[in-house]
Amino acid sequence: MNRGIVYQSRKMVSFSSLLDAPARRIAVYSEEGDVLYTDADARLQINSPRSLVLYSKTIEVKKPLGFVADPPSAAITDIAGAILDRAERGRRVMVVYIDGMGYEIYEIAKEKGIVPFISSMGEPQKALTVFPPITDVAFSSMVTGKTPAHTGIKSRGDSNLKCDTVFETFSRSGKRCTVVEGHIKILKDDSNTVLNIDENKDGIIDDEIFDSSLKQLKNRPDVILIHFHSYDELAHKYGPHSPEAMKQLGKIDGWTKQLAGNWDGDMIVAADHGLHEEGQGGNHGSFCPEDLFIPIIYGSNMRAAK
Ligand SMILES: [Zn+2]
Ligand SMILES: [Zn+2]
Repeated sequence: MNRGIVYQSRKMVSFSSLLDAPARRIAVYSEEGDVLYTDADARLQINSPRSLVLYSKTIEVKKPLGFVADPPSAAITDIAGAILDRAERGRRVMVVYIDGMGYEIYEIAKEKGIVPFISSMGEPQKALTVFPPITDVAFSSMVTGKTPAHTGIKSRGDSNLKCDTVFETFSRSGKRCTVVEGHIKILKDDSNTVLNIDENKDGIIDDEIFDSSLKQLKNRPDVILIHFHSYDELAHKYGPHSPEAMKQLGKIDGWTKQLAGNWDGDMIVAADHGLHEEGQGGNHGSFCPEDLFIPIIYGSNMRAAK
């Protein structure tokens, strides 16, 4: 005898009925890797627990991966436009990319006085990152301005970047761009990338990345992106709030201050994703606020600002 339950009609519920507090807008993460924004008067059709369809006046999304109610207006995809805009106005731009520094962690570090230099640059914008919130995917979106649906980088193994990064665009127009990385080139583009290894074998490559970046500044690049990894590494191992990880964020703040002192251009400090606590350590890649919200801090004319 068949004991299953057959629904006679497809159930339609209003999105707002699922919320604890009323919302005006929602960000919808689609299965294809897009992030779409719509009014919160959307409705959800529940065909089965695993097959939702979201309908609003402007969008229809089958099997959405998740929603953010009243999302921040900023997103990781804004960073590419911010770099382009400044460089087109003849300004030099440095991006300090702090892997794993989620918005909540940044606010706590700021409150505790762990990141005095970065917090002196100005108020952070709270921004949404893309899904899955992992390095390869978010980095590609950061420097192309496109969601994973358009970059083609949707998971760690994807290597076919389907659009230009700002570095490729600028290099073609004769500008000098440099990416300073750890021992692996993460971005699958043709950008000029300087790789570094843990020369002093202290288990951290960021000190070498910092030294290497100072050397690169002598070449007066038009755009330089410096990717610090150590907060993410320690947050995985000891937890995002651990003294070990927080102390490292303080070190990165100090390096950022020294870089700014050697830079007569604009500076953008941002992250790719945050981390949530998991077991004794931390992890990311989930649909949760700790992973999905990042800070973006815009500073202008660094040397003159001091
Ligand atoms: Zn990362
Ligand atoms: Zn990580």
